[in-house]
Amino acid sequence: MSTCHVVLVPFMAYGHMIPMADLAVLFASRGLQTTIITTSSSAHRLTKSIQKTANYSYPISLHIVKFNAGEAGLPPGIDNPDHAMSNEHLSRLFEAISTLQEPIEQFVEQSQPDCIVADMFFPWTVDIAARFNIPRIAFNGTGFFPQCVAHEVMRLNGPTVSSDSEPFVVPNLPHEIKLTRKQLPKIESEEFKVFLKVIMQAVEAEAKSYGVIVNSFYELEPEYAHHYREVMKRKAWHVGPVSLCGKSIDDKLERGKKSSINEDACLKWLGSKPHGSVIYVSFGSIVKVTSSQIYEIAMALEACDVSFVWVIKKDQETSVLDGFEARMQAKGKGLIIKGWAPQVLILDHESVGGFVTHCGWNSVLEGVSSGVAMVAWPVMAEQFYNAKLVTDVLQIGVSIGDVEWSAESTCEGVKRDAIERAVAKVMGVEEGGEMRKRAKELKEKASTAVIHGGSSHSDLTTFIQNIKGFKSK
Ligand code: UDP
Repeated sequence: MSTCHVVLVPFMAYGHMIPMADLAVLFASRGLQTTIITTSSSAHRLTKSIQKTANYSYPISLHIVKFNAGEAGLPPGIDNPDHAMSNEHLSRLFEAISTLQEPIEQFVEQSQPDCIVADMFFPWTVDIAARFNIPRIAFNGTGFFPQCVAHEVMRLNGPTVSSDSEPFVVPNLPHEIKLTRKQLPKIESEEFKVFLKVIMQAVEAEAKSYGVIVNSFYELEPEYAHHYREVMKRKAWHVGPVSLCGKSIDDKLERGKKSSINEDACLKWLGSKPHGSVIYVSFGSIVKVTSSQIYEIAMALEACDVSFVWVIKKDQETSVLDGFEARMQAKGKGLIIKGWAPQVLILDHESVGGFVTHCGWNSVLEGVSSGVAMVAWPVMAEQFYNAKLVTDVLQIGVSIGDVEWSAESTCEGVKRDAIERAVAKVMGVEEGGEMRKRAKELKEKASTAVIHGGSSHSDLTTFIQNIKGFKSK
């Protein structure tokens, strides 16, 4: 019997590529012929996922398209979002991305796939799919809850409040979700204008798509899975958490990038700590942390009665930490990873009980899948919505406090006392114990969702049937 050929087009940022690579592994594990299209500077991030499928009937194929970012005025070497050092670069990058339309269209013409699963930042894949009469599936890299909140906030078109810090209730949602204007991007700002255009194009493309694949599981956010489908009228398949596509230690390594720490050394360090006693601190792949904020975090972690693993980006200025690292090492209290951490491996370790997170969707879902309680410290994008899911709906975390949406993707301004209090709460026995109990229940539900008969496994089956049905028509 012939299979279906699915083409995936991930946006070249880690937070988008990692889950799409997992999705490709899932497709290949179900016997679909799977091709990922990407640019040469991002291709190496997929090597591990491709290797995982080497023995499948259809191992994942890679198709590289030429991306001439220089034509859009980007300096040499800056051709993916992780290289883009400024909003100016990022906005040029978004413009340059449309030059990928032609080579991707050529590929589709030559290889005649049955379906395109494309990231939200490739809205023109809708036109390619229409030209070849195949379904275009949107992948937004986030969950049902944030998409529902974003939809309602957009419809609100500016809440009626008298100040940026006055809370307003997001209307029409299953729970009372309160936000402030501070937690939203400043729509009128120059920086945001370019992103607004990109987001509006993504929303339009989503509405014209055959459906949306969501990296989530039904039991995590049932009311919002329902709202998204029945109120927002989207055809959707929930297939996550996609990070659970591999369970071995090897599967948890090199997700997107080689770790900056020897994994055995990391596991040995974690193994020397009691169950649930370590807090993991990371702000994902994009957020920058100011030197003074790094100092405040260090002081808070030193004062807290817990051990920690803290990921600090390589290009981050860390002279404020002189002496701190040596002190922490001598006491065996803290492990600092400079660069890229094996995040899923760490979160899944039994000694880890808490997670200070910027609330990127992948991090939230990975935290849920590992059953840890969280300190929600959102910075930008839809992270403030994700934080509300963690603290107010699921009640598996506490908020870091009153922080503002950052147009520069920068984490700053939170004092050590607030950090110390939040960490103590999630790691403590009372409130923290309750949160961890709820988090562990969600962990169980997540692992059940992805096995045979589980809600995500079944929805993936439905997706495959829908695509095959479209083909036979
Ligand atoms: N990640 C990782 N090691 C790091 C930083 C990030 O493995 O040192 C992974 C993390 O597990 C997640 C992704 O990168 O899968 C980040 O996605 P998320 O949505 O959490 O945040 P973003 O980086 O997009 O802001």
